[in-house]
Amino acid sequence: MLFDKFENKYILKGTLVALDPIHIGSSSKNTLDPVDVDSAVLKDSRGYPVIPGSSVKGVVRSWFESVLRGAGVFACDVLDNKNCCTAKEEEKRKDCKDLREKAEMAYKDSCEVCRLFGGREFAGKLKFKDSYLIGEPSFEFRDGVGIDRETGAVKKGAKYDFEIISKDSEFSFYLTAENLDEKQKKYFEFIVEALKNGELSVGGKTSRGLGRFAVKDINIEIVTAEDMKKRLGL
Ligand SMILES: [Zn+2]
Repeated sequence: MLFDKFENKYILKGTLVALDPIHIGSSSKNTLDPVDVDSAVLKDSRGYPVIPGSSVKGVVRSWFESVLRGAGVFACDVLDNKNCCTAKEEEKRKDCKDLREKAEMAYKDSCEVCRLFGGREFAGKLKFKDSYLIGEPSFEFRDGVGIDRETGAVKKGAKYDFEIISKDSEFSFYLTAENLDEKQKKYFEFIVEALKNGELSVGGKTSRGLGRFAVKDINIEIVTAEDMKKRLGL
């Protein structure tokens, strides 16, 4: 019922606006390691800045985890090999040979966050496309300081410039959600509100006031199984 039958699809299109300058390093790992100096921003084949869908998904996911935990709903830590919900129940599924059945079992054993954003054994219901720049690019540079990994002190001679995408830059934004159940429809609405409100930050150096973004001019198209039937003339 999860993977092989169409129930609904939400297609959200909008414009992502940089409320602060954004720095998404060209290594696109978005590492929090202050020693890692990736000074140039990630660019597409045109040389224009690009915001990977995986980066936006990552920040929405961790924000949503904290929201659910705050509301007393269990949300696992997917990066934690032992405590990730799908890993914990792995034993149960280890003899299952049918991959679809296995994925369904994993889904059932998963927390609300993995069900929506994806677990180790199944894809998430939310898909974030990469965001491409609208209009001409505007870059700036900021001073950065290298930090010594061992001591946490400023490294001598480790000053460097890093590139940022200017505030007010606009990007395409495209998000889809498939086969949401009733609870997940509410979650989706909640996530859309957070995207609209500019509560989230993407990329590196967010502690330096970078990365805040909002999605405006949102248009959501909902395709239901009923619509599909009509389209097919059934
Ligand atoms: Zn989980």
